[in-house]
Amino acid sequence: MLEITGVSHVYANGTRALDNVNLSIPRGMYGLLGPNGAGKSTLMRTIATLQTPTDGAIKFGDLDILAQPEELRKRLGYLPQDFGVYPRVTAMDMLDHMAVLKGIADKGERKAVVETLLNQTNLWNHRSHFIAGFSGGMRQRFGIAQALIGNPELIIVDEPTAGLDPEERNRFLNLLAGISDNVVIILSTHIVDDVADLCPRMAVLAGGKVQLEGAPLDLIQQTKGRIWKKTIGRDELEAHQEQYQVISTRLFAGRTIIHILSDNQPAGFDPVEAGLEDVYFTTLA
Ligand code: ADP
Ligand code: MG
Repeated sequence: MLEITGVSHVYANGTRALDNVNLSIPRGMYGLLGPNGAGKSTLMRTIATLQTPTDGAIKFGDLDILAQPEELRKRLGYLPQDFGVYPRVTAMDMLDHMAVLKGIADKGERKAVVETLLNQTNLWNHRSHFIAGFSGGMRQRFGIAQALIGNPELIIVDEPTAGLDPEERNRFLNLLAGISDNVVIILSTHIVDDVADLCPRMAVLAGGKVQLEGAPLDLIQQTKGRIWKKTIGRDELEAHQEQYQVISTRLFAGRTIIHILSDNQPAGFDPVEAGLEDVYFTTLA
């Protein structure tokens, strides 16, 4: 269990990126959903002990991670949002090198770990290729491979599916879903479907604050019967936005489909089977 208590972060330029964040994150896949600038990466870096928060406490089990960051790092696997430069080094050599850094000194043991990870992430056939030449999806799978070195108990992946095509995204999410339920995995994303597909628990972060927390199915239940839709012309949008609480608009075949939040069914609107996207946009609205 990861316990985040009263965590705030103010950058040197005065930006308050996190504002009194409180979260209890159990084992299993946990979705941290939020738009750009919400503070997701700031929170991920803070949990990964790469930066110290201005305020607050973070505990992983009994471990105070702010007091003992090096202990946390031994038990952490982290895939940052910007993985940085991709060297002209083969996937196998790079993983081996990173396993050394993680403290796996025995050569035979390291070989076994690296081979298992290359297979698990479907990179075995590319093991002798330079990472610099990898596609986006392969890079992200390599990112997970390096994050899994040394059997971490806490895994953080920050916006791993951004920029992947649908097939690569699927492959990547399946890989995440295959990681043991015994570890805490935090998936930060701005893509609602990532969370809907994978996470039994989630939080919505926006403006540095936790706006919503719970199980996606419960949250959807709470929105049930309050979401309505209507297909309108583009020129009608403004009038509808003035009259109703529009939570989302989507183009479909040249027309605009709007979803609104309302306790009663307004004339001309049809009921919608609410999804996580409706929950998310209602929270942001
Ligand atoms: P997200 O990952 O959800 O997009 P970030 O944590 O990257 O959000 O950013 C949250 C806020 O903090 C944004 O307003 C961003 O501009 C600001 N921010 C992020 N990093 C820095 C930094 N190093 N210095 C100053 N402001 C920053
Ligand atoms: Mg980010």
